[in-house]
Amino acid sequence: MRVHAALFALIVAVPALVAAQGAPIRVHAATVLDGTGRTLRNATVVVQGSKITAVETGTPAGATYNLGQVTILPGMIDVHAHIGWHFDRAGRYAANPGSPAQEILYAAENAWVTLLAGFTTIQSPGSPNDVELREAIARGVLPGPRILTSIRQLNERSGTPDEIRQKVRQLKADGADVIKVFASASIRDGGKQTMTDEQLKAACGEAKSIGIRTMVHAHSAESVKATVNAGCDQVEHGVLLDQEALTLMAAKGVYFDPNVGVVLQNYLANKAKFLGIGNYNEEGFAYMEKGLALNAAMIKKAVATPNLKMVVGTDAVAGAHGHNADEIVARVKQGNQKPMDAIVSATSMAAKSLGLDKTIGTLAPGYEADLIALDGDPLTDITAVTRVAFVMKGGKVYKFNGETARGARASR
Ligand SMILES: [Zn+2]
Repeated sequence: MRVHAALFALIVAVPALVAAQGAPIRVHAATVLDGTGRTLRNATVVVQGSKITAVETGTPAGATYNLGQVTILPGMIDVHAHIGWHFDRAGRYAANPGSPAQEILYAAENAWVTLLAGFTTIQSPGSPNDVELREAIARGVLPGPRILTSIRQLNERSGTPDEIRQKVRQLKADGADVIKVFASASIRDGGKQTMTDEQLKAACGEAKSIGIRTMVHAHSAESVKATVNAGCDQVEHGVLLDQEALTLMAAKGVYFDPNVGVVLQNYLANKAKFLGIGNYNEEGFAYMEKGLALNAAMIKKAVATPNLKMVVGTDAVAGAHGHNADEIVARVKQGNQKPMDAIVSATSMAAKSLGLDKTIGTLAPGYEADLIALDGDPLTDITAVTRVAFVMKGGKVYKFNGETARGARASR
């Protein structure tokens, strides 16, 4: 009798499963930006399982999600977000880690708010906890963006060039997606070059030879130039760089990830929560205050530098998760970047910087079904990137705000 009931359940369940896999999800909107710079009007993204199978134009015969007057684009990518950083229960920056359970739960909260903000992939530069979080999200149960992580960092105290090469190999063996290197001091400590040229060459040279990317924290002009000359792949921050450094990055095809819209603003807004911990002192905050104006001038120069491959990264720390899109707004408003270029920086170009340009960052057949919808048109009002009405990642819908999506109507 018991066997009979189980068999019956199986027979009922199997056709339902087949039907779910067989029926494509069709997401329609007035405007679709494909992530490479193309705009489609009255378009539908067709999704089968976790992948996009078609992008069609014209009035849909039947859309699973007819989102109306919104703008669909690929899920956004933040190439620099510290997904584990959080304020503790006392509302202070947790310089001393809590229990492992607390730490991973804070990271999971950050992952959730980041996904809801329309970011379906982030690169974390990085914490050992990221590995567990990356894998839990990849299993498809815990909601969050895809995570790439450096696990640990290398800096001027990482040893001789030989010791550094060994550490790079160990990081790859431990499952790192990228090598994070500190070529300069923090902006709170003046931003001068800290690693020797030999150390930098060892880190980036070894990484290149074993096929793993490098992202390098560098503020001063000399540290940025040393990073480029060492053969590294990507420069982070660059608050104090000059035109020569920008031109050198463009000439060598090095990705540049300036952070002008989120990180310093977040530190200053949350000063009381950081003050008194490590280099979060009055002098450090004075440097960050100055950094706002330096960034505003730097981003204009960066945008105006021909062929510079700029990607979107926020350096999101405690308090900033879920506000990642403010970086895109700042690139346009402070840096005079064209809205479409800023969107490409956060989608297909960011994907390319991660070595994932055949997988994410573009709405085209064969790509992962990571797509979001914005309430508004970011090409005429860039702040639309902060109004995310719909989030799908890997074919699964995590957010569908029918009220925000004007005229939206779901037929299922
Ligand atoms: Zn950082």
